[in-house]
Amino acid sequence: MGDKQPLSLYVLFGALLAGLSWVLVDAWRGYRVRSWLRHGDLAMAPQMSGWWGVVLDRARKLLRERERTIDAGEQRLKDFLSAIQASPNGVVMLDARAQIEWCNQTAATHLGIHPERDVMQRVGNLLRDPIFTAYMAVDQPVEPVVMSGYRNRVERPVRISVQRHRYGEGKQLLLTRDVTLLEQAEAMRRDFVANVSHEIRTPLTVMSGFVETLQTLDLNADEQKRYLALMATQAVRMQGLVEDLLTLSRLEGSPVPSFVNSLPLESLLTACESEARGLSQTIANGAPPHVIEFQTNPLLAHAMLLGESRELQSALSNLVNNAVRYTPAGGHIDVSVDQGTDGSLVIAVRDTGAGIAAEHLPRLTERFYRVDRSRSRESGGTGLGLAIVKHVMQRHGGSLSITSELEHGSCFKLTFPANRWRAKA
Ligand code: ADP
Repeated sequence: MGDKQPLSLYVLFGALLAGLSWVLVDAWRGYRVRSWLRHGDLAMAPQMSGWWGVVLDRARKLLRERERTIDAGEQRLKDFLSAIQASPNGVVMLDARAQIEWCNQTAATHLGIHPERDVMQRVGNLLRDPIFTAYMAVDQPVEPVVMSGYRNRVERPVRISVQRHRYGEGKQLLLTRDVTLLEQAEAMRRDFVANVSHEIRTPLTVMSGFVETLQTLDLNADEQKRYLALMATQAVRMQGLVEDLLTLSRLEGSPVPSFVNSLPLESLLTACESEARGLSQTIANGAPPHVIEFQTNPLLAHAMLLGESRELQSALSNLVNNAVRYTPAGGHIDVSVDQGTDGSLVIAVRDTGAGIAAEHLPRLTERFYRVDRSRSRESGGTGLGLAIVKHVMQRHGGSLSITSELEHGSCFKLTFPANRWRAKA
């Protein structure tokens, strides 16, 4: 009996010791798990068995999921920002105090701000244009505002449209867009409509004047005939204008001429030559007509132009007719065809007319641009001929070049690239 009591004490003591050491080990393991959870670095996760191991596994899994979610979120944000960077429109994000939080490169270029250096700067301090200041002062602007861009210069205007939107809690988004070309196109359209109206109004006014005269005055047969002839001239002028306008609109609206259609160079030259001779006779009105010569390099006698016959015909006939109209009767007009060193085909129309001053040369192909308005009108010009020629040549991949000297005549050259002609049918 006496021996049994100390034995059970030992067992109890042993059990207590084991329990204590289990508690200590468990506390130590718990401490390690807690210290690891504080930074949560997956690579440093302790390895454990038992239920702390289960807890660790679960925590590791949750952390991995969280990291994946964060990575995916970051990737989405990166994709989103690069998409905004790639946009042709500018984007500026402003906080509730109108300070720049972020902007893409396009907005930076449009407005002259720096995407990094100007972060947290008030946009109003950076952009001082009164138009912009007034726009930012409006609470809920509906329309965008258009102002001069950062790179605006007198010789090269840059116009930027800015639109403001509110989002989040007092935040704002500025969207910028380069509208320079749009404004230029709009101005060109306005000018064009004004020009066309003016061109049509002039002959109409003259015609209605004659109609009134015929209605109110008791004219004899000869006078009536004279007035009717003058009216017919104005009608022809209007017809010419409408035809040229239709040609231009056809050129703008139709696809690039195919390489399948071809026009024999010879027939093009023959048609233009007879047209020029006829016009010269009319203009000379009894005086000696122009000396007109058409020469072709014999190697090109059977050449074929590849493209739209009607357009090619209209381009050359415009140049030849201009040469006749702007050269006094008796003057020389030479049309020659040659091959360029780069394989191109060049048709040159030279005249010994009055020539054109250098400052007019760059603008001659603009619609309705004339050096001498009354002279152009007198000879039945519409001011659209060279614009048509330039357009036709561009559509055929070629070009129109003009050289001229006052008092010494002019030379208009049509250059067709090598792929737009063949030496033989
Ligand atoms: P227009 O119908 O007035 O002739 P174009 O577009 O054909 O219009 O020509 C534009 C202007 O270029 C003309 O008004 C004229 O001033 C000038 N021009 C064209 N061809 C010649 C030329 N061969 N010699 C002198 N001036 C020319």
